[in-house]
Amino acid sequence: MKLLVTGGAGYIGSHMVRTLGEKGHDIVVYDNLSSGHRESLLYGRLVVADLADRETLRILLQEENFDAVIHFAAFIAVEESVKDPVKYYRNNFSNALNLIEACVRHGVDKFIFSSTAAVYGMPEKMPVTEGIPLLPINPYGSSKMMTELALRDIAQVTGLRYVALRYFNVAGADPQTRIGQRYKEATHLITLALRTALGLRESLNIFGTDYATPDGTCIRDYIHVDDLIDAHLAALGYLAEGGRSQVFNCGYGKGYSVREVVDMAKRVTGIDFPVKETGRRAGDPPALIADSSRIRKDLGWQPSHDELEFIIQSAWDWEKKRLALNL
Ligand code: UDP
Repeated sequence: MKLLVTGGAGYIGSHMVRTLGEKGHDIVVYDNLSSGHRESLLYGRLVVADLADRETLRILLQEENFDAVIHFAAFIAVEESVKDPVKYYRNNFSNALNLIEACVRHGVDKFIFSSTAAVYGMPEKMPVTEGIPLLPINPYGSSKMMTELALRDIAQVTGLRYVALRYFNVAGADPQTRIGQRYKEATHLITLALRTALGLRESLNIFGTDYATPDGTCIRDYIHVDDLIDAHLAALGYLAEGGRSQVFNCGYGKGYSVREVVDMAKRVTGIDFPVKETGRRAGDPPALIADSSRIRKDLGWQPSHDELEFIIQSAWDWEKKRLALNL
């Protein structure tokens, strides 16, 4: 297939490009390199451009006959979105709309969208099924929800079919350590824990110990990046076979508390790194666990790395390499 991957130089996008390249697909990556890296691309041709640039998008989609678009490019930090909502609505919604519009204009009829469990907000019942009301509690979640709604409405009246994948907590890295997270200013728990173990940070903060959870810290459903990539491949196959537009949760259906993640990070690294208990972080729901029965049933998706230890080990191998090579 001929595929356009936006955000392909980023963390998850680069894993997608790796797998698509290994399978022999023809890939164009569209990335403004605001957080992505050229060196993370193991395959494909890179177009360095912004999704706000509608003219570049128009020319690209007019000239190349893409079979599908896989849209990763977005900002991802919940706390930053609370402080700077415009930045999130602009990039995650308005720029996504530019891309969707260009797809419709130029006859690209298959679209895979990186959505998030943050669209659910603070659901009362766990695990979360796709059908519950979307009540995001931060601009990050709202901006992703708005793009989902735009896709839904546009698909109703055009030939566009889409799959929105609602990611839970994506972590881990390429098991061969070729690529991984390269954010200098990481915000995610597992990455920060491992960088603390490496001595790159003084201590790890635990954001809130007074949540209504068994140990008082937030619970999340961590999924290995390669299982998430398999979900995208399954979604691509589904759309190629004529599947109708659909939304799927991507998680394992198992939750771990922040303390449990910290304990596992200490075990995997063998380092008892310093941890501080601090106040809550703005915009954090107490628990998010996926009900993944829909994706298992409809797409036949089955995870291969459904173990917190494996996730953290692969992230640890990558973080050590990143430090050694000063990446
Ligand atoms: N967290 C934490 N310390 C950190 C980073 C994150 O305690 O340095 C907590 C955060 O409050 C949340 C969980 O870890 O409850 C997962 O956060 P992360 O940023 O990794 O992902 P999110 O769930 O926000 O997408």
